[in-house]
Amino acid sequence: MLGWSINLFRVFGIQLAVHASFLLLLGYVGYEGWVEGQLPGMLWSVALIVAFFICVVLHELGHSLTARRYGVRVPRILLLPIGGMAQFDRIPRKPAEELLITIAGPAVNFLIAALLFAAVWRGLINTEDVPRYSFNSLVDELWFWNLVMGVFNLLPVFPMDGGRILRATLATQMPYLRATWWAALISKILAPVFACIAFFILDWKMTGVLFLFILFAGDAEYKQTLRQEQEEQYWRERARQAVEAGAVSGEPPLIMHGPN
Ligand code: ZN
Repeated sequence: MLGWSINLFRVFGIQLAVHASFLLLLGYVGYEGWVEGQLPGMLWSVALIVAFFICVVLHELGHSLTARRYGVRVPRILLLPIGGMAQFDRIPRKPAEELLITIAGPAVNFLIAALLFAAVWRGLINTEDVPRYSFNSLVDELWFWNLVMGVFNLLPVFPMDGGRILRATLATQMPYLRATWWAALISKILAPVFACIAFFILDWKMTGVLFLFILFAGDAEYKQTLRQEQEEQYWRERARQAVEAGAVSGEPPLIMHGPN
């Protein structure tokens, strides 16, 4: 499903891509805007969603550029209707590194929110003076949505940022796999609760869908971590056996390189 994507351009050497379903979102938002305010409504709504996703890209760049400092390769940032996804070739096992990489994303949103808030401060006081479909009202929406994006990503559901912070924090006290297991379990309890709040109280349908997606993504990432651990253990065992065999026969020990 993730294969249906369109490559746009490169930012800092990272390929930016949008999933085909993103076009459906643009169409839907444009249609809703048209119903509400004809052409100005449509243009304004599309501009807002594009600006919002530029902020999503900046959030992902926060993660990606911090990750690169720790030698992580970031081939692609993919935009989906439910948000962005930076693809890393690996996730650092050192809790401090994972923490910094994770915090960098929401930090970008809080920074944008603060800057935009400062910029529209005057407009915010005289809200009646801001026309509905204007640049001012767009910026006014955007600072608020950046604040929401920052806070929302910090909710402790794995593998969202808050869940990763939880995992990294737990990993300072217990083995990495066990920490991932706990983070995924907590996510399984909280994600349906947040999904219900999004669907029935806030009426944020896309957010509700996102939480359901997270429910599966958290479990998938735990299983992937488990598989990695098992593979590493297998290769460690093979290396140990090779060393023992070498010691018995007098041959030099084989050095095995496992995956990763
Ligand atoms: Zn993030």
